[in-house]
Amino acid sequence: MEQYRAYRTCPLCEATCGLEITLQDGRAVEVSGDKLDVFSHGYLCPKGAALHHLHDDPERLRAPLVKQNGRFVPATWDQAFAAVEAGLKPLVEEYGRDAVAVHMGNPCSHTMAGVLALRPMLKALGSKNIFSSSSVDQLPKHLSCGLMFGHPLTIPVPDVDRTHMLVIIGANPLESNGSLATAPDWPGRLRALKKRGGKLVVIDPLRTRTAELAHQHLAITPGTDALLLMAVVWVLFQENLASLPDAALYRGLEELRRACARFSPEAVAERVGLDAGQIRQLARELASAPSAAVYGRMGTSTVAFGALSSWLVDVVNALTGNLDRPGGAMFATPAHMPLKRKPGGKGWRMGRWQSRVRGLPEVLGELPVCTMCDEMEIGGEGQVRALVTVASNPAMSLPNSRRVNDALAGLDFMVSVDWYVNATTRHAQVILPPTGPLSTAQYDFVFYGMSLRNVAHYSPPVIPKPESELDKWEILYKLAMIFQGQGAGGDVGRMDDFLAAKLVEGAAGKPGSPLSGKQEEIYQALAPYRGLERVLDFMLRTGAYGDGFGLNPPGLNLAKLAKQPHGVDLGPLQPRLPGILRTPSAKVELAPQPLLDDLARLEALLDEPPHNGLLLVGRRHLRTNNYWMANLPTLVAGKPRSVLWMNPADAAPLGVASGDLVQVRSRVGALTVPVEITDKARQGVVSLPHGWGHDLEGVRMSVARAQGGVNSNRLSDDQAMDPLSGNAVLNGIPVVVEAAD
Ligand code: SF4
Repeated sequence: MEQYRAYRTCPLCEATCGLEITLQDGRAVEVSGDKLDVFSHGYLCPKGAALHHLHDDPERLRAPLVKQNGRFVPATWDQAFAAVEAGLKPLVEEYGRDAVAVHMGNPCSHTMAGVLALRPMLKALGSKNIFSSSSVDQLPKHLSCGLMFGHPLTIPVPDVDRTHMLVIIGANPLESNGSLATAPDWPGRLRALKKRGGKLVVIDPLRTRTAELAHQHLAITPGTDALLLMAVVWVLFQENLASLPDAALYRGLEELRRACARFSPEAVAERVGLDAGQIRQLARELASAPSAAVYGRMGTSTVAFGALSSWLVDVVNALTGNLDRPGGAMFATPAHMPLKRKPGGKGWRMGRWQSRVRGLPEVLGELPVCTMCDEMEIGGEGQVRALVTVASNPAMSLPNSRRVNDALAGLDFMVSVDWYVNATTRHAQVILPPTGPLSTAQYDFVFYGMSLRNVAHYSPPVIPKPESELDKWEILYKLAMIFQGQGAGGDVGRMDDFLAAKLVEGAAGKPGSPLSGKQEEIYQALAPYRGLERVLDFMLRTGAYGDGFGLNPPGLNLAKLAKQPHGVDLGPLQPRLPGILRTPSAKVELAPQPLLDDLARLEALLDEPPHNGLLLVGRRHLRTNNYWMANLPTLVAGKPRSVLWMNPADAAPLGVASGDLVQVRSRVGALTVPVEITDKARQGVVSLPHGWGHDLEGVRMSVARAQGGVNSNRLSDDQAMDPLSGNAVLNGIPVVVEAAD
């Protein structure tokens, strides 16, 4: 029994670690860190080490399921696609395309298919009712970057490896492995920062593992990050510490100066829960450090002022002279994107359409998930009657999950592209499972755009895809053809060729393009590939380091990248301003009007009495990954983690001790959970992790079911959101906690 090794990047989180996979008799028997990987150098976390268990999980579906008489039965692919067509076509014909909604989960951004094949499917469907996990996560950051830099994916990342000072707000990369800032081995990188004399500050209502590593932990009141950052801006202006290295690159400085007038440290201190002196010190240290970066994540995003907080993170980076310089907040140069040198563009727009019931604006082509149930439940023209889910579990991951479950149960039809019969897909009429994680190719389109170092890594499938299985892109193309009216029997290969031809025409048919008129050469170069690899090869060749189809012969293409199983290091981040800007002004917009307008709401907060009760926040654990890795024994073993953290001062009046059960109530729901008394939660704050509570009727995930736990989204409120971005509020939820009987 001969063993051999294969290499690939891990698709489970944003860190993109290189994995070394030991195979025997066609099965993966061990996963370890790839020591030669150009980015991760051998680092991996317990989730990556369990990737082969996910591939081999006997409860992961290998063939479609179709519901008959209320029960799932195995089906062929032809039968399953025919059932999808039979279910959706009459609804579209009778009620229009908006009657079919789509909900896409976070794993979509970790797969080539999620990035490249979803768009054609959405386009073919043509529904306004598109939802995704973005609006329970990072949508505010897309919004603020869209307005500041002209493109919602132009997101600056902290240059952790070179900075002298890193301020982390509302993020816990020691547990999450980082987000909107791609890098393996955050623990090693943060320790290296400290070792070279840099300063680490963590701002978080919880004393997380990342906070414990920091020189300074500022435990603020949940949801007040925007006030804190506004006060930092105030100090920078008042003390003449604001310094833009090239003022001509920026617009809106004076508007910003005027806008922060009411937000002095003294004005916000009580509300934020810090001393005014601590806020001044933070501003002064950021301004005086040789380089510094502020990095905000979930705690700044999933709050009532998510867009403002996300914007102010980059405003502070800009005002302290740290935007786009080594050691500050910088932009990646991914290999699959062309390098644009001339700044300026059309800018970015939101609100191109509104949701039918609550009139909420579209952001990034999506409507807020907080209103998905409204669209399903409330009758009238345009009501959502059917749903397509792609690698998502809205029945658990959306606020007010009980309502979501009821809404899903009331739909006329539902089809899910998913590996499991889980809380969501149990409501579906058809489940279409893509091939397993080791049988599909990998290139991290999304995360190389937010990487702390420029790298590229292509991983072919490690285990050949079984004949009977389909890759996710094949399933999505097939759905696209059903929506286009080509029917369930449409040929995926023809759709693939059609999309490739559009790509080639877009480049070669453009007058003045260096590739103008070179259709034949391009087709010839791409000939070895089909499917998403063909698209990837095209993007690499036309990308920042590409061979330009012969215009730059030493440059990159897929064949060259595929010969590097440990990836290619393309160097540290480089300054990208002003070329990266797509704003009509060709400048960084420091004070976009929609954000200035939203400051009135923040100002009003200063006049409200502080909240006296408890506020609920979430928390992460290294061995969980939202809701989608819960069926692997190695990841859920150990002492129970679905536990409410509570400060001793808050617990004392209740007379409860660690291990006792408490009841937690919010406006929308209640649950009973064990409590852990700990000063890791600041007084007035309780914390419950998400990702638990899979023991619902019909769920076929026996390991996850057996773990029990509670779903924190029974408490989160679908009426609470950041009105500008539509993002859900998952941190700072008012709750009441009582001892349970
Ligand atoms: S840190 Fe993320 S990418 Fe790295 S092994 Fe863990 S889950 Fe995979």
